[in-house]
Amino acid sequence: MDRQQEFILRSIEERDIRFIRLWFTDILGSLKSVAIAPAELEGAFAEGIGFDGSAIEGLARVHEADMLAKPDPATFQVLPWRGESQGTARMFCDILTPSGEPAMMDPRNVLKRALNGAAEHGLSFYTHPEIEFYLFKEPTTEGQEPEPVDQAGYFDHVARGTTHDFRRAAIGVLESMGISVEFSHHEAGPGQNEIDLRYADALTMADNIMTFRTVIKEVALEQGLYASFMPKPLSAHPGSGMHTHFSLFEGDQNAFHEAGAEYQLSKIGRQFIAGLLKHAAEITAVTNQWVNSYKRIWGGAEAPAYVCWGHNNRSALIRVPMYKPGKGQSTRVEYRGLDTATNPYLAFALMLNAGLKGIEEGLELPDGADDNVWSLTEGERRAMGITRLPSSLGQAIQVMEDSELVAQTLGEGVFDFFLRNKRAEWDEYRSQVTPFELKRYLPLL
Ligand code: GLN
Ligand code: MG
Ligand code: MG
Ligand code: MG
Repeated sequence: MDRQQEFILRSIEERDIRFIRLWFTDILGSLKSVAIAPAELEGAFAEGIGFDGSAIEGLARVHEADMLAKPDPATFQVLPWRGESQGTARMFCDILTPSGEPAMMDPRNVLKRALNGAAEHGLSFYTHPEIEFYLFKEPTTEGQEPEPVDQAGYFDHVARGTTHDFRRAAIGVLESMGISVEFSHHEAGPGQNEIDLRYADALTMADNIMTFRTVIKEVALEQGLYASFMPKPLSAHPGSGMHTHFSLFEGDQNAFHEAGAEYQLSKIGRQFIAGLLKHAAEITAVTNQWVNSYKRIWGGAEAPAYVCWGHNNRSALIRVPMYKPGKGQSTRVEYRGLDTATNPYLAFALMLNAGLKGIEEGLELPDGADDNVWSLTEGERRAMGITRLPSSLGQAIQVMEDSELVAQTLGEGVFDFFLRNKRAEWDEYRSQVTPFELKRYLPLL
């Protein structure tokens, strides 16, 4: 046992921890949890805890079901909402095969492989997400539009507002778990909120996002509310995005920064963006993985629909934010495609590898788009070389199927499972005759 593991065992005793939850994530980004008694932890550190992998979405086939969950001691945190005495702590796990090899089907491992690839070039990948979500009144009737907790809008200050109290409580819990919050505010939709996390290396951030979703759900329940990360829950209001800012570091230097260059953006930064633009359509089935995701990005409400980049242009898929003088280390790029219901491990791995491909191939960055790309005509967009993001899950799957980059990054097993699962979702969806159609066509046709 190393010192970190010993330290954890000691604090479990001192802090009267009764359960340790081992957390990991399935391929579609759902959090999984198994609780063990403190006495089991030493064994878990040494060999992992066995479980039936075939019962988890996409993890293992039935004939090779046994899997091991091995806790990562760096992720030890006490869960504040479980109380002080007889408390509960959690650790994220790596999934191993029975022979102790990293499981190829583990999303955390997919991201680790991508990060290791970057590390071979001396590069590390940092991200910071702006996470949007809706707060609704208590659970709604199945199939009915939910009722937002307020009617406020972007940056509104609501006296005694429900969402103020909510954000304050949620941020308190996040910070007590070591997750720093930079900004928080009311978003544009009624009951919609945004909380932005302080940047961290991509693996820590993916873990933090998984924790974030759980914390938000827990705090909402405590306050008699319902929090949702559904990409587009209300037809008449904006969807919830997860714009993600990122940068590459070479040692302690921001490799995206070059003093005096346009937007202070280095050549590597420009090539990275070029790679991301080139592969954006291919990675969309993962960054926007649900049928509902495409109702957010069909065009409008500051969600991207077209593959282009810009500076002060919030209709662009990729944005280079305003440069703060003297803050070279903060040069970064914002990818606005992701929604809050993506699997962050897979999404970050794909963004990173798409960008690295751009560097590897020395891609030229096309001209940025200064205009609101939605107000251009189809012809104007074509002349500027601006293409569309896939406009349905079905289209996104089709583009992903032919992507070598996505197949390589996810590994064959995850790639095949993901496509199979998403094809089934798409087929089920498109065979539905919806209330919209009945209302519209039955009286008419
Ligand atoms: N809700 C928008 C989206 O889905 C973003 C709005 C904003 O942050 N400016 O991307
Ligand atoms: Mg924001
Ligand atoms: Mg926002
Ligand atoms: Mg943003």
